[in-house]
Amino acid sequence: MQAVRGVTLRVAEGETVGIVGESGSGKSVLMLSLLGLLPDNAQVRAQAMRFADGDLGAMSGREKRRLLGSRIGMVFQDPMTSLNPLFTVEQQLTEPLRIHQGLRGAKARARALDLLRMVDMPSPENRLKQYPHEFSGGMRQRVMIAIAIACGPRLIIADEPTTALDVTIQAQILDLLRNLQKELGTSTILITHDLGVISSMCRRVVVMYGGIVAEEGSLDEIFYSPRHPYTWGLLRSIPEAETEHRLPLVPIPGSPPDMLAPPQGCPFAPRCRHAMPVCLRCAAPETELSPTHKVRCHLTHPAAPQVRWEKEGL
Ligand code: SF4
Repeated sequence: MQAVRGVTLRVAEGETVGIVGESGSGKSVLMLSLLGLLPDNAQVRAQAMRFADGDLGAMSGREKRRLLGSRIGMVFQDPMTSLNPLFTVEQQLTEPLRIHQGLRGAKARARALDLLRMVDMPSPENRLKQYPHEFSGGMRQRVMIAIAIACGPRLIIADEPTTALDVTIQAQILDLLRNLQKELGTSTILITHDLGVISSMCRRVVVMYGGIVAEEGSLDEIFYSPRHPYTWGLLRSIPEAETEHRLPLVPIPGSPPDMLAPPQGCPFAPRCRHAMPVCLRCAAPETELSPTHKVRCHLTHPAAPQVRWEKEGL
């Protein structure tokens, strides 16, 4: 089984790239494979995996773990299961400081306090001694972000960081991530299934489906001139504000492919209303529509039917 294949992903310094796709599209597996966090029986094959001036492909598991927590920070979806319920927030915040920067005692505590202030934690002095169960979901996510930025990472990978939160807290956490990114100049990879989150955070978007990159482009290219039917489906399923002009939500029919037996051709073919016989036989090659816009769909072939994205009426 190949959960992810043929993916090229570049993130420039200070850039925020969004990876979007539904569950099972391969977005989280892609990140876990880069960081060496997949189970032992998983195999990762890549032509190149580089971070700054280091070759991730040549690093041992131990070297990658050292990188993770120091130069790469992770924020996971559910802070309750990511934080250890048996340790105080201070213990969890000072652990990476001790391991990666050798900070201990009063110095580590002072830095932990600074970090809680950076993530706008209310009453940070009192919070240090508390346990995760004493925090709300939003505050727990702030602690996770504080841990992720503790050692001044160059890259933050945020995997569905707001999915478990209600809408107002979601907006606060996204604001926080945006502000920290500006303040610290870190690069960010934001993994989400929510195009609304992508539009408020990212300049560049990677749309994944069935373990491949279906489409990649700037925010404007993906939102205003998308070329892959799966991207069209995602855009049609964004809820709109309740106005008289509101269009009905159109779900994508069917379900994602079983990656234990992936389809031979385009993985989206069984759900695609524009599928042609060629789509069932072979996967589409990557077509470059502009220096930043790439898509894998047979509809971009000059001989294919001319189908264009129009939100209305589709
Ligand atoms: Fe649809 Fe074919 Fe394009 Fe796949 S390659 S998205 S099946 S038109």
